[in-house]
Amino acid sequence: MAVFPSNLPKRRDRNTRVRLRGTALASLDYFITAIILCGFALAGSLSTRLLPVMLAVMVGVNLFFLLAIATGFSRRFADPAMTVAQVATACALNFTGLVLAPQLAHLFMIMLIVPLAYSSLHFNQRMYLAHWAFLSLALGVIIPLVGPSLDIAIKTMPEQILSWLAYVVALGRFLSINAQVSRLRNNLAQKNGELKSMTAKLSDLASRDELTGLWNRREFMRLLQEEARRAARSKASFCVAIIDIDHFKEVNDRHGHLVGDAVLKELGQLLEFSRRATDSVARYGGEEFTLLLQGAKLSTATVALERTRHLVEQHDWTQAAPELQLTVSAGIGAWHPGDTLNAVINRADAALYEAKNAGRNCVRVVAR
Ligand code: GH3
Ligand code: MG
Ligand code: MG
Repeated sequence: MAVFPSNLPKRRDRNTRVRLRGTALASLDYFITAIILCGFALAGSLSTRLLPVMLAVMVGVNLFFLLAIATGFSRRFADPAMTVAQVATACALNFTGLVLAPQLAHLFMIMLIVPLAYSSLHFNQRMYLAHWAFLSLALGVIIPLVGPSLDIAIKTMPEQILSWLAYVVALGRFLSINAQVSRLRNNLAQKNGELKSMTAKLSDLASRDELTGLWNRREFMRLLQEEARRAARSKASFCVAIIDIDHFKEVNDRHGHLVGDAVLKELGQLLEFSRRATDSVARYGGEEFTLLLQGAKLSTATVALERTRHLVEQHDWTQAAPELQLTVSAGIGAWHPGDTLNAVINRADAALYEAKNAGRNCVRVVAR
């Protein structure tokens, strides 16, 4: 009971740390932009009156988002990372820079792509459309406003170096965020693959008998249903055999349950080894096994089961217990178009009853 409540705050902390790391990376972007702006101010391309205002706004914005996430204030929102607000603020700051310092238009335009790259991590279709509309409208207003007086600061060597730096940083961040998205996609694909193989393993496990590894009764019934559908379509026939160990209780009584288990396992392997490729063997329950003989008529099935009976009788069982001898009895039922599965199984059951009554270690059939 104590596990859940004590785990909850830890998980919250981890989520907050992830959000904080993302926001701190955005702060690093702002910091680099601030250095480049200082460079332009030193090169004389940006008013030294404007620079402190820009820096103060950047620091204020970063502090606000970092504190909102670190204190847990942002948890009251649907998006606790405040991605939409952070992207929108970064875009608005770039636009303000465009209006206040149009000579650095090339810088602010390229820097726009960094917050937009973040959006690829969190935005859904609606957010993407809303942002696109907002950006289109803002640029539609700003371009005619700034355009006529545009005198881009890219003429002197320091301006060119700083412009190049701004492009290098913006494109680098853009590509690194894309690499992050790509890594997430790969992780997802890998997890998906693992999930699929685990589901396949689980479904196989659910279809197998734990002791012998053969199909279990449920899977056998499914295979039988499939075979009945196939046979009905192609007007073919098939047979079901029930194989029952003779006097198995005595094996348990004389040698113990563990030896009994080992015998069941070994017989399972023998049946699996001797079946035709198209046939299916299952452990029906206890010391009874079933065989689905695909496309077989009663005569073919009888030959196959007689061979199996002989194989069991001749098999060396002394590995399981000294002087152990084992025989099986088998009953076969044939399927005819229009039959239910129960009808076929009942025939095989009745045939097995006949085999037991006939003295065991033999095969009997019930045609209809
Ligand atoms: P018959 O020739 O008439 O079939 O006699 P039988 O002794 O084989 O049949 P019976 O139904 O009297 O006994 C079946 C025995 O199979 C009893 C049960 O303890 C044993 N058995 C069933 N499942 C298992 C198992 O998983 N492991 C072991 N060791 N024994 C099992
Ligand atoms: Mg039995
Ligand atoms: Mg038995």
